[in-house]
Amino acid sequence: MSEPNTVLVTGGAGFIGSHLVDRLLSLDHKVVVIDNLSTGKLKNLNPAATFHHLDITQPSVTEVFQREQPDVVFHLAAQVSVTESTKDPFHDSDVNVFGTLRLLEAARRCGIEKFIYSSTGGALYGDPETDPCTEEHPILPVAPYGLSKYVAELYLDLYHRLYQINFTTLRYGNVYGPRQEAHGEAGVVAIFAQAMLEGRQPQIYGDGDQARDFVFVDDVVEANLLAMTKGDGGAFNIGTGEKTSVNQIFESLQSTIKYRWGPELAPARHGEVYKISLDSSKATEALGWTPRVGMEEGLLQTVEFFRNAGKAVR
Ligand code: NAD
Repeated sequence: MSEPNTVLVTGGAGFIGSHLVDRLLSLDHKVVVIDNLSTGKLKNLNPAATFHHLDITQPSVTEVFQREQPDVVFHLAAQVSVTESTKDPFHDSDVNVFGTLRLLEAARRCGIEKFIYSSTGGALYGDPETDPCTEEHPILPVAPYGLSKYVAELYLDLYHRLYQINFTTLRYGNVYGPRQEAHGEAGVVAIFAQAMLEGRQPQIYGDGDQARDFVFVDDVVEANLLAMTKGDGGAFNIGTGEKTSVNQIFESLQSTIKYRWGPELAPARHGEVYKISLDSSKATEALGWTPRVGMEEGLLQTVEFFRNAGKAVR
């Protein structure tokens, strides 16, 4: 896609979505955002985007599609909390499955060029038997969130077969970076950094040995941009292939922030994957994607953001 296009970003006021909106605008695309601001923030949202304050489960989504005629849809709006999905699986399914279906129906009625879906690699494969884990690994989620994100993938596949809707699914590792809030899948970096900067003691659940594939938000945005023209009909892991434990994150942030205290230890949580890293070689081959921002640099940028945000509040 060489010419600037109208792109619709659901969840564009959220952590990842707002970074994507900024990049798309910098590339001269016309950007339309649908967000109900349940976890997203207006202050994240670039004022150059056209904003529809709307829930993706609502019928009026179709009117927005008809009015704006998007060429490409980036679908990021979701119920993003693994813990909440266990407490209220109905709401989780409502947003993540039914909401996605609402968008797909609107997309097929108005005709779009591509639907790019933000799925999860971290919550889909359960505790993987292989490390790093490829897309071929059995789908064995340990919480409703992982399943609802996957059912939406299946709807994409169905709509492709039934109505030829072109799509790419991106399965992220644990995304971190500026603007992240504490509630999401990879909230640990935001939670620890904010607590340390405010002189509070962060909690570590269980032994802290649980490890994830942490990928920086700019790299995830890049994968979305590449998917505009590549990776048709595929699902791709977007991660670094490296595992970093919660204890390691604590120690790295501790030394970056010069925080003097240890963590407060709390019981392990249910519905959490213990250890996972993602093999992204399929994304490298099909999209030309590789992660560029290392953990040290990514954490530095994140801490800097929270430091400045803290100063702005005072
Ligand atoms: P986020 O909570 O910051 O963003 C989600 C956005 O969707 C928010 O702005 C929220 O207000 C909006 N939203 C939620 N429900 C909505 C609804 N019913 N209607 C309209 N808008 C709604 O979370 P994020 O971390 O930026 O996640 C973005 C996407 O990436 C999600 O689809 C998530 O499942 C996926 N993902 C995130 C991670 C991660 O580590 N952050 C990992 C894997 C996948």
